[in-house]
Amino acid sequence: MLFLWKTAKKENFEMAILITDECINCGACEPECPNNAIYEGGVEWAISDGNTVVGDYELEDGTKVDAAKKINPVSNDYYYIVPDKCTECTGFHEEPQCAAVCPVDCCVPDPDRVESKEVLLARKERLHL
Ligand code: SF4
Ligand code: SF4
Repeated sequence: MLFLWKTAKKENFEMAILITDECINCGACEPECPNNAIYEGGVEWAISDGNTVVGDYELEDGTKVDAAKKINPVSNDYYYIVPDKCTECTGFHEEPQCAAVCPVDCCVPDPDRVESKEVLLARKERLHL
């Protein structure tokens, strides 16, 4: 996994972060996220949580939602990361802060979501008007 991450970085691509089922639900990562992209298992999420975005917002899959609309949790059992809100900390920090503080190293790159720096920076701009 680390190899994949380093290779992607060398080519100026990043991978979104996901939380695996090794999560012990300690909650340490949640307050560290500059995008409010981390939620406790079972808690609904919204684009506008932790920012000033209002009105229509287009998700990465093209779906349009009201920014304040509460959306079903990604996981009911473990803390989870909303991919539409994660920028891999691009624009804020050199490294993903969730991975930096996680005591069991379960915040890992998602090889199914390789994204360019430009995409991540654009997401950051949309989330922080
Ligand atoms: S990588 Fe950064 S932006 Fe993404 S969930 Fe972790 S702390 Fe939040
Ligand atoms: S810091 Fe790690 S173990 Fe703790 S809630 Fe976050 S992902 Fe789970």
